[in-house]
Amino acid sequence: MLRTMLAGLFLLAGLNACSSDPSPNQKPQAQTRPAFRALAFYNMHMEPDHVSFAVYALNYFGRLAREKNFTFDSTQDWSQLNSDNLRNYQVVVWLDDQPRAPAQRNAFVRFMENGGAWLGFHVAGYNDRNTHWPWFVQFMGGAVFNRNNWPPMPAKLTVDTHDHPVTHRLPDSFIAPTNEWYQWLPSPRQSKDVRVLVTLDPSNYPLGKKDLLTDGDTPVVWTNTRYRMVYMNQGHIYHVFESPIQNQMYDDAIMWLGTGK
Ligand code: ZN
Repeated sequence: MLRTMLAGLFLLAGLNACSSDPSPNQKPQAQTRPAFRALAFYNMHMEPDHVSFAVYALNYFGRLAREKNFTFDSTQDWSQLNSDNLRNYQVVVWLDDQPRAPAQRNAFVRFMENGGAWLGFHVAGYNDRNTHWPWFVQFMGGAVFNRNNWPPMPAKLTVDTHDHPVTHRLPDSFIAPTNEWYQWLPSPRQSKDVRVLVTLDPSNYPLGKKDLLTDGDTPVVWTNTRYRMVYMNQGHIYHVFESPIQNQMYDDAIMWLGTGK
């Protein structure tokens, strides 16, 4: 745990240094207006595999932001999820946690209901009877966490449609790197508002050793079409970034959320 935290802090320190102290040889990118501004929330005190995902994600999206000319800020301070601050951003990202304070939740609802965009990963979308946030359950397309495989494993995913900016570059199916896969009950596919983009292929069943996914519908990536949002179940441990194919989906998702293209 300590080692993970230290590695994370080291990486974060590196990121901060990169973003605030460009070398003299770098082009002065500040003169170019960023395509959009994203703010990522994370929590270093979560399950270590979720923290390791968050740390790699900060690194990954930080690099992508420099490449694609958008702003990618990050914070562990969830009180920054307030309407005043969110006015500065078009996209909110939750890497490994979600807000619990009513004021933060309400600010997020206002943001989303007024055209803001959200990208949520893995445990950020988790909800059960203790979550006490009905709005969020409908936002997730009615999906309530039901079960998962354990240990984390790679899995074959099928792409439901290529007719969407998030999936248009993906093949019909691909092997996704190690992840803990969640199954939801009801499946978000039951919602008329949800468009499922990627699904766990049934050929994976039974998936797991200690905990098994044995059957059923397991959407992995979807959007609730009433909002500008994408949920991705990927996000358990840093291996999630080891597939160049799957990485295209992350790239296209944040660009679509930020620019509409
Ligand atoms: Zn997990």
